[in-house]
Amino acid sequence: MTRPPDNQGDSRAAKKQFKSEVARWAAIMKVKPAQIRVQSMKKKWASCSNRGWGCFSTDLLLESVAFQKYVIVHELLHLQVPNHGKLFKSLMNAYLPGWEAILAERNGSASRSL
Ligand SMILES: [Zn+2]
Repeated sequence: MTRPPDNQGDSRAAKKQFKSEVARWAAIMKVKPAQIRVQSMKKKWASCSNRGWGCFSTDLLLESVAFQKYVIVHELLHLQVPNHGKLFKSLMNAYLPGWEAILAERNGSASRSL
């Protein structure tokens, strides 16, 4: 996906890299988010809008690569499955085996919603 450079504040390179990782997963998962944004969000790691936008917290850039991956796959999967039911979990297992271990290792992530 090629996009014109946009105005991002600090850690522009980190955001850019994160977005390209999101785009890479979107291609693997065959979802097409209308827009991917990385912005300051204190209560959530990520969220999806009903317009198909994927929004990720800048705080994620400080997290481990494994946890970033988990959040990316989780959020993109919501473009296919809106809830956290059985289908959601089995698709998580298909795309990211071991995601439950990643989540368990990242204690405290439950304090933010996804
Ligand atoms: Zn969720």
